[in-house]
Amino acid sequence: MTHLGFERAADAADASHRLGTGPGAQILAGGTGTVDLMRLGVTAPERLVEILDLRAEHAAILFGRAGASIGALATMAEVAAHPAIRARWTAVAEALNQSASPQIRNAATIGGNLLQRTRCAYFRDAASPCNKRRPGTGCSALEGGLTWDLAILGTSPHCIANYPGDLAVALSALDASITVVGADGNWRSVAVEDLHREPGERPDLDTVLGAGDLILAAHLPELHWSRSSYLKVRDRESYAFALVSVAVALRLEEGRIVDLRIVLGGLATKPLRCRAAEEAVRGRSLDLHLAAQAAALCLEGAQVDAERAFKAEQGRRAIARALLAAGGHEKAACRVVFRGGF
Ligand SMILES: Cc1cc2nc3c(=O)[nH]c(=O)nc-3n(C[C@H](O)[C@H](O)[C@H](O)COP(=O)(O)OP(=O)(O)OC[C@H]3O[C@@H](n4cnc5c(N)ncnc54)[C@H](O)[C@@H]3O)c2cc1C
Ligand code: SF4
Repeated sequence: MTHLGFERAADAADASHRLGTGPGAQILAGGTGTVDLMRLGVTAPERLVEILDLRAEHAAILFGRAGASIGALATMAEVAAHPAIRARWTAVAEALNQSASPQIRNAATIGGNLLQRTRCAYFRDAASPCNKRRPGTGCSALEGGLTWDLAILGTSPHCIANYPGDLAVALSALDASITVVGADGNWRSVAVEDLHREPGERPDLDTVLGAGDLILAAHLPELHWSRSSYLKVRDRESYAFALVSVAVALRLEEGRIVDLRIVLGGLATKPLRCRAAEEAVRGRSLDLHLAAQAAALCLEGAQVDAERAFKAEQGRRAIARALLAAGGHEKAACRVVFRGGF
């Protein structure tokens, strides 16, 4: 029989202290990811530190001059339904509403969503070699396995798993950050854009957080953007992870895009910002030709095999479509969907 300790944290400092003392402790929030992976035998924590009792202090959605602050224990459903988030940080609500199912969104938290693990089938099969689950054992996907839904950007010879979440992609586009408290009790801020890691030589390290780090809140800076939107392409229209997703935030002045951020999900090993494409578009008036040019720049350096070639084409179209729609060119966006457009 496997022994599993269960502890309830009294407050955030107590939770991060419990995480940092002794090996094998893991935070339990909504449990929709953690319990799944334990059942599959993918993870085997020795102690679960439950933090849902801290909702009174860490689930509020607050607004001030600096923007919005979302407690890490707010549920996905609460944030997606908030009228001010829907109206002003639209990409966040759109990303959350296209995530998982209503039941999961009612239970799952913002902190847990940001730290979800990959859905690579070999990672989730405890019997398959997987460098992310057990470093140094090999990569079943790259060694003759199925790769069709995995990443084409930011990959390494050790892992090609794609980042599965939606929220972090939208938060990155909106220049959001998280507040983290460490086991030493010190607080720090981490840009969501910098939270996740490419696999490199260490696919087992998904993020820059360490043992004992607890996410307290996510912060959305006061709106610099005129519009933001999130486009998700998946196998079926609900309850499926992204094959490709694109979050776009842009600032328009007299019809010209004076600033923008484009972030990709589904295609890459982490939410991936496309700086070269942003540079190409900034200061110009958007049209089909420019959107196509930006999409091509986003996919430069993509690693595709025969199985994943469709993802590059799907990505190219999704990026152009997302940009055109966010820029108010809905008709041109439709041309991309129905005729390839360029
Ligand atoms: C069938 C299914 C479909 C799904 N589809 C989607 C989808 O389409 N899009 C999408 O984005 N997600 C999807 N998900 C993932 C789901 O959104 C996550 O499982 C959920 O958001 C995790 O939140 P949680 O509160 O349940 O976290 P938990 O399962 O409790 O925790 C998840 C991880 O985060 C850590 N953690 C939790 N809170 C904190 C914190 N505050 N600080 C530090 N560490 C913390 C835990 O230790 C654990 O490692 C799906 C999940 C399922 C089961
Ligand atoms: S792609 Fe990554 S997660 Fe999937 S089997 Fe290979 S190492 Fe594991």
